[in-house]
Amino acid sequence: MNDPACVFCKIVDGQIPAMRVYEDGVCLAFLDIGPLAEGHTLVIPKGHFVRLEEMPDELLARIAPVFPRLARAVLRVTGADAYNILQNNGRPAGQEVMHVHFHIIPRQPADGLGYRWNASKYEGDRGRQFSEQLIAALKT
Ligand code: 5GP
Ligand code: ZN
Repeated sequence: MNDPACVFCKIVDGQIPAMRVYEDGVCLAFLDIGPLAEGHTLVIPKGHFVRLEEMPDELLARIAPVFPRLARAVLRVTGADAYNILQNNGRPAGQEVMHVHFHIIPRQPADGLGYRWNASKYEGDRGRQFSEQLIAALKT
């Protein structure tokens, strides 16, 4: 048990049930208990990490191939031909379970899902400033 208070750690350990669909040495996938659409699947690392940026590169590299593999299965079973991968970090971003998880959400035309995408634009030099700050931050 990584974090005895964590609901996803309890699922990993089999202490609470879940509709498990895939598992390997490092990750587990199961159906979301509150699906946004039938087939809505969660992929989690078996180890307890709260946020994406805490995960070691090697672990992410092990999990990454599972996304397209599961996505193909979700599409085949649901008949959808579109899907979102959603991954929330921090409460303002919508994270409710503090154990890293990736949502695979099958989408249908006009299914009513989605969120406000209030696109804005950079004024003046603002975009260049951000890009330069980010480039500098990536070097530290
Ligand atoms: P978040 O908002 O943190 O990105 O998403 C958390 C997701 O976990 C939600 O979609 C919620 O329905 C799902 N979830 C929360 N508790 C459980 C649980 O005990 N079992 C399963 N299968 N899913 C859960
Ligand atoms: Zn956990």
